[in-house]
Amino acid sequence: MKYVYSFGDGKADGKADMKNLLGGKGANLAEMNLLDIPVPPGFTLTTEVCTEYYKNNKSFPNELNSQVIDCLSFVENIMNTKFGDENDPLLLSVRSGARQSMPGMMETVLNIGLTSKTIPGLIKKTNNPRFVYDAYRRLITMYADVVMEKAAGIEPKEGDGIRQKMEHHLSTYKNEKNLINDTDLSENDWITVIDIFKKEIKNSLGSDFPDDHNAQLWGGIEAVFKSWNGTRAISYRKIENIPEEWGTAVNVQTMVFGNTGENSATGVAFTRNPATGENKFFGEWLTNAQGEDVVAGLRTPNPLNEDTKTNETKDLPSLEELMPDIYDELYNIRTRLEKHYSDMQDIEFTIEDGKLWMLQTRVGKRNGSAAIKMAVDMMKESMIDKNTALMRVNPNQLDELLHPALDKDSEQNATLLTKGLPAGPGGAKGRVVFTADDAESWNAKGEKVILVREETSPEDVHGMHAAEAILTARGGMTSHAALVARGWGKCCVVGCNELNISVDKKELKVGEVTVKEGDWVTMNGTLGKVYLGQLDLTPADPDKNQEYKELMRWADETRKLKIRTNAESPDDAKQAIKFGAEGIGLCRTEHMFFDEKRILAMRKMILSDNEGDRRDAVMGLLPFQKEDFKGILKAMEGKPVTIRLLDPPLHEFITLDDNQINELANNIGIKASLVKQRISSLHELNPMLGHRGCRLGIAYPEITEMQASAILEATAELTTEGVNVNPEIMIPLVGTVAEYTDQERIIREVATKIEKQYNLTLKYMVGTMIELPRACLTADEIAQHAEFFSFGTNDLTQTTYGFSRDDIGSFLPDYLDRNILPEDPFQSLDVNGVGKLVSMAVKLGRDVNPKLKIGICGEHGGDPKSIYFCKNNGLDYVSCSPYRVPIARLSAAQAELN
Ligand code: ADP
Ligand code: MG
Ligand code: MG
Repeated sequence: MKYVYSFGDGKADGKADMKNLLGGKGANLAEMNLLDIPVPPGFTLTTEVCTEYYKNNKSFPNELNSQVIDCLSFVENIMNTKFGDENDPLLLSVRSGARQSMPGMMETVLNIGLTSKTIPGLIKKTNNPRFVYDAYRRLITMYADVVMEKAAGIEPKEGDGIRQKMEHHLSTYKNEKNLINDTDLSENDWITVIDIFKKEIKNSLGSDFPDDHNAQLWGGIEAVFKSWNGTRAISYRKIENIPEEWGTAVNVQTMVFGNTGENSATGVAFTRNPATGENKFFGEWLTNAQGEDVVAGLRTPNPLNEDTKTNETKDLPSLEELMPDIYDELYNIRTRLEKHYSDMQDIEFTIEDGKLWMLQTRVGKRNGSAAIKMAVDMMKESMIDKNTALMRVNPNQLDELLHPALDKDSEQNATLLTKGLPAGPGGAKGRVVFTADDAESWNAKGEKVILVREETSPEDVHGMHAAEAILTARGGMTSHAALVARGWGKCCVVGCNELNISVDKKELKVGEVTVKEGDWVTMNGTLGKVYLGQLDLTPADPDKNQEYKELMRWADETRKLKIRTNAESPDDAKQAIKFGAEGIGLCRTEHMFFDEKRILAMRKMILSDNEGDRRDAVMGLLPFQKEDFKGILKAMEGKPVTIRLLDPPLHEFITLDDNQINELANNIGIKASLVKQRISSLHELNPMLGHRGCRLGIAYPEITEMQASAILEATAELTTEGVNVNPEIMIPLVGTVAEYTDQERIIREVATKIEKQYNLTLKYMVGTMIELPRACLTADEIAQHAEFFSFGTNDLTQTTYGFSRDDIGSFLPDYLDRNILPEDPFQSLDVNGVGKLVSMAVKLGRDVNPKLKIGICGEHGGDPKSIYFCKNNGLDYVSCSPYRVPIARLSAAQAELN
């Protein structure tokens, strides 16, 4: 079995596509060698060594030692030096390297091979004792930290680790000697400090720093393998969904030194600007420095070139200016690497006494707008094709372009008030108010407000709409506040447990800090952070972004899945069309009833005890509903609009306090006690499984009749006016075909009547929302009558799992933590369970009714993974909130390409 792969001098056992075996770093080091790019020679111990190591109770395969010795002599031959040699010692670095980069999560040890035996030789050879002792103290620091403490499983208290102790000694020493930078320390200074370090190690960790080159090498190798199961790596793997079985590789590589003097340097760079995507070489560097110095931020790094200079760094010398020849060589490598990998690269380099060495290349991380710009630019430069460009952008990254964002500099200096869940992305600022009515009236006066609530309910919707952003103390990512906010693309932070809200006093407290009504706060909904005061925002206008428009055009040419939106007002509809929606997949009608003028008629209807009164009350709502539907149907310009008949349990409309009850009783002329009685008779133990959905229309057919009339009269009137309209009437929560046909009959009768009345043929469809397991199981029966299915996957998930969507917050964190669920099934469709029901219903339905139109509405419609599922199961469209429409368009294109 081959466990070790060498690279050096233009030769390599491995190559770029062997990442699984060699890790990303090792595979790319090999590849750069094959491209004749200068890379210090070395070798890679494969990820299989790591898996073997853990399988065999932390011991290495037998063949490993001899393979390492062989590769070591390969390196020694190229370098013409020997590891551990007294006169001319080879020094090595030991670096981790997983398949997928895990920046900063695992360990690296530099300068391995410095011992009391080799130090004098190296001093003689370099004639630079200061450099040798600087390198030695770095080895000691890294080795003690990585090998002797972390890998040994010692977990010191916060701030009490061996590295911090040594750093503390160093700064004490510098203070005593009045030295400012590390570069100010002389040879003798380092000798003294090294002595202090060694004593501290013995003292704190109980053993001596090893003075043998082989012990150092194997200590380093084992430490990297152990770091795969370090606390930091484990939690990072969890977040990034990296499987434990992958293991890490270990790279052992000849040291090159950026710290031998002013003719040496080290730096990091991106082949294009990772923040803007501009095709400009971008980087930072430091003279006389090693390894992490650039990233560690102890010294302000210099700009790589003219393009990289900022206001703060404009006076610092660039590599372009100081070492123009080397800069040219680096620039040339930049161009070759980018062309070779056809993607933006993130590179590390070191200059040793005027010679350039490359130490790493990998695909660079980038933000959303940069990802778009690079993809489109590279396609135009013929570096990649259109399909690759489409695959290059993570759909969720589009979010950044669709919402205003907090200005980064401004955020850095801000005072954090509290943190919660990032429910609605983007940034927003406003003055704090505590009720929906206040939000509305302040907004009417031209004030920007943030609505702060314990949690929100449908009655707050007008205030939520008026607010810039919504902040709640309770609730999770699928709470009412979160859903509504995301639907509008509003900034929203929920579940801020620290918030102590007093609506009476109109103030909130977080610990000792009090925020009163009218005080300014600024929110970062992307990170779930809330700040005191006003910070700067950068507005969003994706249509100004030419590359975005171009990429979306390619996406539209590629995808077959249609994208609709969930919208219930003409404004929402117009916004969604701007974002590219091709129809409305879910227009809920219940919010239309919460308006002040209408809620009274609604409540009258609910409180009626006979059909006659109820009919009168319901029909009072008809003109309002008709106007709503006209507005939406017109705004959609002939695109399909799926309108769902009334769905929620009735008691949601009559949650009233005593005052409101008295007022209502007065208004409709019955006794308050009677109102109370009726309200309590509507109380249900489990309203989500209670009297709602089509069960309402079955008990009170006049509701269905009124809604069907409103939709179809709106259709008739618009048709007469010459407006093209396309309504689809959707019956909710059907579980048996008889429920469906009962409601369908009412709708068809209304239609016939209206057709006669207006003397025209109505163009409309009737179908159902599939959101109960029984509907999926009997989809063949339902599809004999229904013209379309729309999967309501929120309720379908709820009823399939038997999880209450509103109560899942109490146990979901445990489920996710202990891997009982891989993710929140309300955010990403549970393909194995709920998905199976969906596939079954599609097949049963289409077998009896090949023309059946099928879509999905609900949160999943905007989730890229769920969209892949929909495409693979032959759905015609997905529907999501307006601000997720662009994300869905790109996801649908990617699903087509996969
Ligand atoms: P990470 O994955 O955290 O970036 P690396 O393995 O890249 O860790 O190493 C950390 C730092 O040490 C980098 O700045 C790298 O350039 C430097 N380094 C690693 N190996 C060598 C070497 N052989 N010679 C000089 N510098 C090195
Ligand atoms: Mg690195
Ligand atoms: Mg539902």
